Amino acid sequence: MTALSRTATLARDLVRFPSVNWGAGRSDGEAEAAGYVEAVLQRMGLKTRLFESAPGRVSVLTRVEGRTREPALVLHGHTDVVPADAAGWSVDPFAGEVRDGLLWGRGAVDMKDMDAMMLASLEDILGSGRQPARDLVVAFFADEEAGGVLGSHWIVDRHPELFAGAAEAISEVGGYSVDLAGRRAYLLQTGEKALVWAKLTARGPAAHGSRLIRDNAVTTLAEAVARIGRKDWPIRLTDTTRALVDELGRILGIDPKAAGEDAVVLASGTASGFILATLRTTTNPTVLEAGYKHNVIPDTATALIDIRTLPGEEEAVLAELRELVGPDIEIETVHADVGLENPFEGPLVEKVIALLGEHDPGAPVLPYLMSGGTDNKALSKLGITGYGFAPLRLPADLNFPAMFHGVDERVPLASLDFGTEVLTDLLLTY
Ligand SMILES: [Zn+2]
Repeated sequence: MTALSRTATLARDLVRFPSVNWGAGRSDGEAEAAGYVEAVLQRMGLKTRLFESAPGRVSVLTRVEGRTREPALVLHGHTDVVPADAAGWSVDPFAGEVRDGLLWGRGAVDMKDMDAMMLASLEDILGSGRQPARDLVVAFFADEEAGGVLGSHWIVDRHPELFAGAAEAISEVGGYSVDLAGRRAYLLQTGEKALVWAKLTARGPAAHGSRLIRDNAVTTLAEAVARIGRKDWPIRLTDTTRALVDELGRILGIDPKAAGEDAVVLASGTASGFILATLRTTTNPTVLEAGYKHNVIPDTATALIDIRTLPGEEEAVLAELRELVGPDIEIETVHADVGLENPFEGPLVEKVIALLGEHDPGAPVLPYLMSGGTDNKALSKLGITGYGFAPLRLPADLNFPAMFHGVDERVPLASLDFGTEVLTDLLLTY
């Protein structure tokens, strides 16, 4: 076997920490992953600070001095991953296996790949006696996979001074390539949908399972869940999605007005996995809970709904849901966070486009709105404009969108090295 590059080694080591975030405040091993990252940063001569928001929920931050007096850039990643059920995987999700030129494992895509690229770029720059152009605030957050309550939000709320002088941020879920009918293009994430995690509760009489009960809580809840899950939210384009759909239409030779926006997006191949949900609101039921015995009708039934609205539409969507489920269902917001939409222009965007043009000539860069959320939401509270830019040149046949929180997460080693080179150039020249 050929030796792994530095980026691949760092990514593999990080995948081997089962830093699983189970949600509801529970996680394993973020502290160990943060400890590993801290040691790597300290070996570069950087002063690190650890923040433990709750036992074991550790984030690590450092600051790197730049050559210029331009506003600082925040470079951030998260060390936690979502759970992985090994039964569905071709490999042990936490073994950090390298097979066929790819690194396999939970976090290989989301987002220990970028964590490793960040570390390797900094090693490259500082190890050769150079300095980044701007001051960098480098953060590895805990708890991103549960909304950042014990990670980015906790730190931004308690230690805003750590981000003093920072205007922009870059992080995950953007900057990777997609194949558009045989043509490679890059998606730069310039915005994120808003999220509302809602809990529905239905109540009724507790009773023997043999009785005639018309207002059974499970039945009431099931009807509401079905209505929400089946709701077909209309397409509504924002500045970002309009620009993206128009550009996709131009590249693919399809007129969005004639064919419809969904048809243009579907023709984009695997990229549609990232894009379809960004043209409208989505309301997905994700968890159901009721009952404890086959012959007992329970007095309550609950469901969790993952709602992702377009930026600014949270209240309107909740009002529509209340209408949809009727007065017998209580709707409670468990967690909510803002949507973001940043311009696809300005010096950082221009620099990103120029760098991708140098490293992969001829591949266009398109803006996109992300259906999920990142720690950029927390940073936006400090007025920091965050983009998703974890650059990866990927093979055309790799279904990258499907691997976020999916099975058999894997990233090509060559893509990691490409990303480190682009990121290094960005930090040196922006
Ligand atoms: Zn992530």
